[in-house]
Amino acid sequence: MLVAKSDLHSALKKYFGFGKFKGLQEAVIESILSKKHTFVIMPTGGGKSLCYQLPALMQEGTAIVVSPLIALMKNQVDAIRGISNEEGIAHVLNSSLNKTEVKRVKEDIVNGVTKLLYVAPESLTKEENVEFLRSVKVSFMAIDEAHCISEWGHDFRPEYRNLKHIIGRIGDNIPIIGLTATATPKVQEDIIKNLGIHNAKTFKASFNRPNLYYEIRPKTKTVDADIIRFIKQNEGKSGIVYCLSRKRVEELSQVLQVNGINAVPYHAGLDAKTRSSHQDKFLMEDVEVVVATIAFGMGIDKPDVRFVIHHDIPKSIESYYQETGRAGRDGGEGHCLAFYAYKDIEKLEKFMSGKPVAEQEIGHALLQEVVAYAETSISRRKFILHYFGEEFDNATGEGGNMDDNVRYPKKQVEAKTDVKLLLDIIAKTHEKYKSKDLVNVLIGKENALINSHKTNDQPFFGKGKGKDNKHWMALLRQVLVSGYLKKDIETYGVIKLTDSGKDFIKSPKSFMMTEDHIFEGAQEDGSVI
Ligand code: ADP
Repeated sequence: MLVAKSDLHSALKKYFGFGKFKGLQEAVIESILSKKHTFVIMPTGGGKSLCYQLPALMQEGTAIVVSPLIALMKNQVDAIRGISNEEGIAHVLNSSLNKTEVKRVKEDIVNGVTKLLYVAPESLTKEENVEFLRSVKVSFMAIDEAHCISEWGHDFRPEYRNLKHIIGRIGDNIPIIGLTATATPKVQEDIIKNLGIHNAKTFKASFNRPNLYYEIRPKTKTVDADIIRFIKQNEGKSGIVYCLSRKRVEELSQVLQVNGINAVPYHAGLDAKTRSSHQDKFLMEDVEVVVATIAFGMGIDKPDVRFVIHHDIPKSIESYYQETGRAGRDGGEGHCLAFYAYKDIEKLEKFMSGKPVAEQEIGHALLQEVVAYAETSISRRKFILHYFGEEFDNATGEGGNMDDNVRYPKKQVEAKTDVKLLLDIIAKTHEKYKSKDLVNVLIGKENALINSHKTNDQPFFGKGKGKDNKHWMALLRQVLVSGYLKKDIETYGVIKLTDSGKDFIKSPKSFMMTEDHIFEGAQEDGSVI
């Protein structure tokens, strides 16, 4: 379908009241309207929903939107109904509907009234629904939160794996639109493969959020008091405090209340009424702070959240990015403060211990990235963007001075010789080790794997003994971010040389490094919790 630019703009104005498209929206919509498979990677708040809502409203037939969260679907349906006098324009199809309601939904679709049909993947798998959808005109399928298809995403849902098959049964040549805010190169690859959209037009927006300030502080016994102090310094501003467990959410929200802070708890253990009342209070500014588990946030569109505090460090960089991404959506200030102690990583590792081995390996690899992020002394923005496959230059990039490591830099030292040694060893051991074992080879620490390769007999074994493992780990992480090395994801983190790494071996250059932060025992009384 060829649509003139002016028509797109007038449709945008007519349905949403917006004067112009945000970022890549227009190009994405053009791709969808021309019936191409389309893959959209945009950070939270980037305006993904409009990318499929507008073409759905402009076309004949019904667009099917697969989304994992009922609350999110309901919000969207309400919003779409709000822009039209026709209630049937958008529907949700799920198991909570009674017979009459289902009949109404189906009638509206058959009569061409419904432009957007939201379904959870579980409902889509139901035979009767597949049969019904086969018989109607489907304009396209939008797979929202498409990272749920990947075990490498932060929210894997096995039902997403069936989607390709089901879409094939609903009809031939249905354009598929995958959308996600989480896109490490590995997750992207999984989405394309599992949805079978190898020829998709891909649109990737930058993940840089220049107005967010990233900060990590050591987590000590005084963490509650630290949080209270921070909130009081930011009086009158809205914020979210994330905790890992429901119990901690309850405790902390009480501690905040006792200290005169207007806070409410939010977690999946609370009944639906309490949850929605607490959410509404936060949205309506009756309370300043929500203390929550990760159950809070998906689809919540409060533009002026001024801070996101992580009482507990999340289990992956993706989760951290998603959760911090809820701050400063309006482009204003957004302070992202996380409290970190290695003990919390161990706790998260323990949670995984009952899971299947492959899942544990993935979980472990993702956690190691979190450790690297927390302990690094290079720009946190640079680190995050590198993780998402994006190069960032702090000197020229927007928000280049918006993190603790850049504002309060540690001293840098020349590490050219160390980098050369590290890269040499990687080449000589034929690129087969992960970070930890490489550091062991450098400091001369034997283990079963190293000995089985007889690496301990090599002349370079222990050549970096003069410096400790913290130094080598920090250097390795910085060399990774600089692009001389890369982590192989298929093998859960084996370190490989890049072409520029091979060049470095031939002609070494200056490399300035900073030591990592040492968190354990960083606080005055030496206690770590
Ligand atoms: P995402 O799903 O990517 O997190 P949303 O679809 O929720 O993002 O959009 C984020 C916000 O941006 C919403 O408040 C939405 O109304 C707004 N928005 C989307 N497109 C535009 C636009 N073209 N102009 C202005 N605001 C927009």
